[in-house]
Amino acid sequence: MTTLVREANEFYQRCNHQRIEGKSIAFVPTMGALHHGHLELVRLAKEQADICVVSIFVNPTQFGPKEDLALYPRTLDKDLERCTNAGVDTVFAPTVQSMYPQGYQTTVSVPKLATVLEGQFRPGHFDGVCTVVLKLFNLCGPCTAVFGRKDYQQFKIIERMVQDLNLPVSLIAAPIVRDRRGLALSSRNAYLDEKAYKRACAIPQALLETAKAFAVGQKDPQKALAQAKVILQENMDKIDYFGMFDPENMTELSGSAFKGAVVAFAGYLGQTRLIDNMVLGETLWTCT
Ligand code: AMP
Repeated sequence: MTTLVREANEFYQRCNHQRIEGKSIAFVPTMGALHHGHLELVRLAKEQADICVVSIFVNPTQFGPKEDLALYPRTLDKDLERCTNAGVDTVFAPTVQSMYPQGYQTTVSVPKLATVLEGQFRPGHFDGVCTVVLKLFNLCGPCTAVFGRKDYQQFKIIERMVQDLNLPVSLIAAPIVRDRRGLALSSRNAYLDEKAYKRACAIPQALLETAKAFAVGQKDPQKALAQAKVILQENMDKIDYFGMFDPENMTELSGSAFKGAVVAFAGYLGQTRLIDNMVLGETLWTCT
């Protein structure tokens, strides 16, 4: 049975104790409303270490004032059951007050990587992410941490932070888990009704179109993206960005498309903001 820990200090002590006993720890930070994408991170984590710990914390500092913090799905009981079934040792689900007690003022920033793409449309988002992830790493201690490539830019930023601050953490980037129609699993998919869900499936379809264009030799990013853009414009209510990006600095490609470049999307269906991405040259998913 998974142990639920709500206090930061208790989480720190528990992880420390386990390491003293000689156990290695793999850590999966999440915001909860766990789905198979998260559980895949847990499965990978368990391959890496003796013990898997999961954090569940809807981090207020990474939400903008007009974003869905209040609405964000919170399903702790169900999450705990899923973690127990998946063989998670500890779930750390702190209160906001214990993570950000009165007087709190420190922020961690990875300024260049954090101001493009997601950062441009969600100012301050990655400062919130980095700050909470660093706090969680400090509490967990030396570990292997598993993140999903669904949040590609987030992974790059955390990788930079770990390197820049000499954190005793090895990172693993897990592939995106998709449903049978190709839609990337997300806690926010719960907001979609049937009609919106069908339109959301245009996102993986657009990514596949781009991959196909690249696979048949189209190296001009704008030409490779053209058909996909039409699909997205027909289905999305608003597109924040859709383009081809350099995986090192997350800036838009100025020259030719290349294997390893990232095709990334962010946009809205109604009030629901969805993101997805694909790495050119990687094995593609199939839809049924
Ligand atoms: P979240 O709870 O949305 O903050 O996500 C927690 C972790 O799960 C992050 O590292 C995400 O990138 C990862 N994740 C979310 N959805 C997926 C998915 N469909 N496939 C793989 N990883 C995912």
